[in-house]
Amino acid sequence: MHKGAFYTLILILISTMSFAQETAKFTRQDTLKGSITPEREWWNLTYYHLDVKVDPENKIISGKNTIRYKVLKPHNVMQIDLQEPMKITKITQSNKELNFTREGNVFWVKLVEKQHEGSANEVVVHFEGSPIIAKNPPWDGGLTWQKDKNGNHFIANANQGIGASVWWPCKDHPYDEVENMKISVTVPENLMDVSNGRLIKVDHNKKEQTKTYHWEVNNPINNYGVNISIGDYAHFSEVYDGEKGKLDCNYYVLSYNLEKAKEQFKDAKRTLQALEHWFGPYPFYEDGYKLVEVPYLGMEHQSAVTYGNGYKNGYKGNDLSGTGWGLTFDFIIIHESGHEWFANNITDKDVADMWIHESFTAYSENLFLNYHNGKEASAAYVLGTRSAIQNDRPIIGHYNVSHHGSGDMYYKGANMLHTLRQIVNDDEKWRSILRGLNKEFYHQVVTTQQVENYLSKRVGRDMSSFFDQYLRNTKIPTLEYRKRDGNLFYRWGNAVYGFNIPVKVYINGEEKWLEPTTTWNTLEGLPADFEVKVDPNFYVGEMNVMGRYSEVKPEK
Ligand SMILES: [Zn+2]
Repeated sequence: MHKGAFYTLILILISTMSFAQETAKFTRQDTLKGSITPEREWWNLTYYHLDVKVDPENKIISGKNTIRYKVLKPHNVMQIDLQEPMKITKITQSNKELNFTREGNVFWVKLVEKQHEGSANEVVVHFEGSPIIAKNPPWDGGLTWQKDKNGNHFIANANQGIGASVWWPCKDHPYDEVENMKISVTVPENLMDVSNGRLIKVDHNKKEQTKTYHWEVNNPINNYGVNISIGDYAHFSEVYDGEKGKLDCNYYVLSYNLEKAKEQFKDAKRTLQALEHWFGPYPFYEDGYKLVEVPYLGMEHQSAVTYGNGYKNGYKGNDLSGTGWGLTFDFIIIHESGHEWFANNITDKDVADMWIHESFTAYSENLFLNYHNGKEASAAYVLGTRSAIQNDRPIIGHYNVSHHGSGDMYYKGANMLHTLRQIVNDDEKWRSILRGLNKEFYHQVVTTQQVENYLSKRVGRDMSSFFDQYLRNTKIPTLEYRKRDGNLFYRWGNAVYGFNIPVKVYINGEEKWLEPTTTWNTLEGLPADFEVKVDPNFYVGEMNVMGRYSEVKPEK
């Protein structure tokens, strides 16, 4: 065995060992939650009618979900997810009760009727219970039961990480989005429920002193986007003249916040203007656009963006970029609305690829500034957010176990995309790439690979090492260089195998593009004495190998 092979073997052993250690922390429940099990794979979701009663006094949700599906291949066991301590009380098909068993958060439903390939079937799942109460929504999610200043109930769900099955029974995996959906929510008659889509009708159940709000969603929707927001709401609206015609914008806020909201929510229209410009038409005209006040910070609930930023600019009044630009807009309105394009229009097939949601959306914050305040403001903002980058672990998580990667999917992701914009070096082309993404993957679930392939194709060069570097690795590529006798020797260090992205530098203030690889290249014919500076818009490091490493920083 020669030395190279020996080291390769050691490397393989080490990486297998660390992989084994990593996978050991995942449980069977994680696999059942995060993978496309045989009991999920055979059927394709077409329709949900979620019909629930919300009892605020006892913090109980009960009701039924009618699930329609198409049979892709014959099978007789169906996986339905509903988390402890919620219970399924009955499941029927063609009015006949079905047997089922429970394994933690998963129900195995035994079907009696033959499931013929291509046929459309339906099951009705009855359920009830007190769902997990969110410890720290929207991150540590579940239900939030609060009261407003007037003592009225103020209730909402936020369950992105934990999953929609924390409060209702569904096929709780992002790969299969339901094609359309009805949501009926019964609440005490003094309260209103705002869910996704359009309000079709309201039933007043006088005897029970309740009201039932019926909402209809006419587009594919991801599970975690489904929401109930319940409170003593006041309502106002406007019509936005957008790229696809007239878009109804409806705003629901606590009655005593109406005047503040009328002022603060002007950012909604500014967001739609900016993001339609960069990303293309708002993806859900049929369902309208809504902002709904909730008792937590906010969430990208499809066509019903929830808001709890306290009617302050910035992120709860703070500027994430440290440049001042972050205080010129309401972070939650811009960020959560940005998710209508990336998260709701284009959804990850596995949460390991959640950067597709968060990187593009964090990036949309600077595009908003670019539209309203110009390119310099936008660059300052996105460079400013680098202070939040940890480089602790890769942005992509583990597949098939419902595991997402590092929080760097926000601002490292945004800076990766800002770097890509520099490489494209043509803003109109860059805009057409971003708009093209929303067209190519309109209302679809996608993988990182699909997004990568699309971007490489449109950029016109193989960008795989670029994505390997920023999404699958924590190292920051560093332009290493050496100056001697009017020559510049340069290469990428700290980089993944084959990393070869071009970079813009300034040599004695003059712009120059280099095409470094991981081996040394030379630029000849420079003055005897010269200065090299990497364009700070690239999220890379630089190191004069005769000197020392420094992170490329924006100029003050
Ligand atoms: Zn987000």
